[in-house]
Amino acid sequence: MTDLPEPFENISLLPKNECFGCSACVDICPADCIEMTNDLEGFYYPQVDNSLCIDCGACIEVCPGFNDVKREDHLQQPIFYGGYILNEPIRLQSSSGGVFTLVAEHTLALGGVVYGAIYDFTEMKVTHARAATKKELALMRGSKYVQSDSTGMFLKVKKDLQAGIPVLVTGTPCQIAGLYQFLGKEYNNLTTCDLVCHGVPSPGLFTTHFSAIEDRHKSPITGINFRTKARGWGNFLNFFIEIETDTKKQLTYAPLDAYYAVFLSNLALRPVCYQCKYATTHRDADLTLGDFWGVNKELPELFDGKGTSLISANTQKGEALLQQLQPKTTLTPVENLRHIPPNMKRPTPRPKGRSKFFERIHLRNWKRHQIKAHLIAIYTIVKTKLANGFHKIIGGGD
Ligand SMILES: Cc1cc2nc3c(=O)[nH]c(=O)nc-3n(C[C@H](O)[C@H](O)[C@H](O)COP(=O)(O)OP(=O)(O)OC[C@H]3O[C@@H](n4cnc5c(N)ncnc54)[C@H](O)[C@@H]3O)c2cc1C
Ligand code: SF4
Ligand code: SF4
Ligand code: SF4
Repeated sequence: MTDLPEPFENISLLPKNECFGCSACVDICPADCIEMTNDLEGFYYPQVDNSLCIDCGACIEVCPGFNDVKREDHLQQPIFYGGYILNEPIRLQSSSGGVFTLVAEHTLALGGVVYGAIYDFTEMKVTHARAATKKELALMRGSKYVQSDSTGMFLKVKKDLQAGIPVLVTGTPCQIAGLYQFLGKEYNNLTTCDLVCHGVPSPGLFTTHFSAIEDRHKSPITGINFRTKARGWGNFLNFFIEIETDTKKQLTYAPLDAYYAVFLSNLALRPVCYQCKYATTHRDADLTLGDFWGVNKELPELFDGKGTSLISANTQKGEALLQQLQPKTTLTPVENLRHIPPNMKRPTPRPKGRSKFFERIHLRNWKRHQIKAHLIAIYTIVKTKLANGFHKIIGGGD
């Protein structure tokens, strides 16, 4: 009997439903033999060319699917604050209270750079970019409800850190975990900020859907705002799509858009999101930002319907930073937080129809399958949560 070859000790060993799609493995691979490809559901997964793999194990070492991050200055318990940026136009452009911009502008003022998610309408995707100016930073404002492509970011961050530049990295908790694993050590000039994270929908679905809208209008999309405050903070019934040839932005009723309805139904989140190990108050990042639903009850003085952030300082570094930012915000400690966001307590529940969804809906046939997807999504929303209100569907409270 001939011996079977030993399997490679690389990230091909990670079960698919445990991969976060963070791309840290791609950035670390010395043989350049891992690339991210979209699966049939449209999610990014690493693919290894085993013929080039030198079996070094580096990808496994950096993978947050295999490892848990160990930070040095973690607080025993996070300290919670409510607050918003005092600059009102920026606050209104932000999803919650604009605290991201506050932290980011502080980094720029120190001569630093910021990494965060921006739309790339040429490729019709969301990607992690580097900002060194306020103009570049503005593109990062606002929640983009799709998985951001962070390939290449880890290498750029490391280069900046090694050059001694102050760096702020923002993203989903799994992206931040991938970053710390990739770096393998603490840097004094690094600050990280993650989000209370409900889960990310399929990037392939995003590309297919919004490209089809461009085809329909025979004109490019130049802006999307999933969290417009045009009708108030927490109103998930409206969002903007800006089309180049239109004179004004299109305010769209969210449930009438197939993509947004599918997002609200939770049918197209990345499989690992339904078992997310970061759905806890114990976070790897220095700071965590979320929407402060329930602020009207916890800290009514911070509620005016324009958006308030819930902030948790998770490390001594995060706490010290917040104290420095105090004069530019309404930062107020929250004693005994009663409204812990659901996605800090447990992952988003997997809807019953999730397994079959992408069997019934083929992205390649989106034009034909869109109506079916839309109906399934509306049915799922109505069945599961409509009675609780839309803001609760995406993380507003149990
Ligand atoms: C996919 C997703 C799900 C979320 N789910 C919840 C939730 O369930 N409950 C809750 O309380 N809050 C949730 N949030 C966080 C919340 O929507 C706000 O992002 C947060 O409160 C910060 O708001 P802000 O006003 O300070 O700044 P904003 O200007 O609104 O924040 C922008 C920040 O979000 C980052 N960002 C935007 N889109 C993405 C993306 N696709 N991937 C990675 N980073 C991104 C940017 O890099 C930037 O750091 C979610 C955010 C995202 C992106
Ligand atoms: S490093 Fe990230 S993308 Fe690579 S296998 Fe692990 S979780 Fe997946
Ligand atoms: S084991 Fe090393 S060479 Fe092989 S895929 Fe992983 S990082 Fe690349
Ligand atoms: S829910 Fe968890 S796994 Fe999904 S994107 Fe957010 S942090 Fe990553």
